Amino acid sequence: MSLVVTGTVGIDSVYLPTGNAERVLGGSCVYFAAAAGMMGPVRMVAVVGEDFPAGSRALINGLTNVDSAGLTTRKGGKTFSWAARYSADMNSRETLSTELGVVGEGAPEVPAAYRDSRIVFLANMHPAQQLALLKQFPQQGLVVADTMDLWINIARYDLGLLLQEVDGLVLNFDEAELLTNTKNTVTAAKHLLNMGPRFVIVKKGEHGCLFALREGDGSIALGALPAFPTEKVTDPTGAGDSFAGGFMGYLASKLSGHAAPGMRFPLSIPTLRSALARGTVAASFTIEDFSLDRYKTLKPAEVEARLKWYAEMVRI
Ligand code: AMP
Repeated sequence: MSLVVTGTVGIDSVYLPTGNAERVLGGSCVYFAAAAGMMGPVRMVAVVGEDFPAGSRALINGLTNVDSAGLTTRKGGKTFSWAARYSADMNSRETLSTELGVVGEGAPEVPAAYRDSRIVFLANMHPAQQLALLKQFPQQGLVVADTMDLWINIARYDLGLLLQEVDGLVLNFDEAELLTNTKNTVTAAKHLLNMGPRFVIVKKGEHGCLFALREGDGSIALGALPAFPTEKVTDPTGAGDSFAGGFMGYLASKLSGHAAPGMRFPLSIPTLRSALARGTVAASFTIEDFSLDRYKTLKPAEVEARLKWYAEMVRI
């Protein structure tokens, strides 16, 4: 089933105990697409400026199953760029700068050929732009959004409007806490369900994730998964986006033909759990190397093999 992702494509500079990676390829859309591509085809909608390095574009073009025809270059514009410094244990990071560039000038155009997309992931960007982009997919059957502290702090009203329009929300625990003013993960997830989506996934880094789904009868079902136990952590940047990419890529491969255009896709806790297992494994590869480097050589068969290992580890 056609999967599309909208979000940022940019230039990152990250400072880590494992080393620094300056002016490398980054952005929520790229990490998502790289991971989703391991599960099947994914379309990308984003905008960069004229300063976007040719090498980064070549890297995107080389990603497995990624259709980047929707990545446009805005004349005279400056590419989104982001810099961050990680703590010694790499469990937290401080954003040093966010320069929106072309991303701050308005949402990119969705190519006509992408308008039939049924499954839409709105990766991190301004919620007003996420909403504007969402309106360009009239056949949507499943919409999931990501957000982060910057948007919760500066665009909470728009975020509230967005939450009314999406099926699912993916966010970090500290972002869920910021948005709901609640310290307990389960309470925060329930609170978020009241804001609009029918499911919510709260990520807790190396402690895995909690997910909550409002069932057809109005009751709330919960699930949880551990993170993949990784010894080699080089650069956690993009872990959240690739987690979402593996998750959505799997759903797109499974939901084929399940609902007529415009109808919502049915979801259950077992389906979400299977999809989140793929997301967990996808994230475990991302953090093994800087930027998108691990995805330059990663093959779907390697992802499948690690998934089998993970499934064995979580079996009770
Ligand atoms: P993650 O580590 O999964 O949270 O994603 C990090 C990626 O998101 C980096 O490659 C950044 O370029 C991108 N990013 C950082 N801040 C923002 C933001 N405010 N909006 C959209 N993308 C962002």
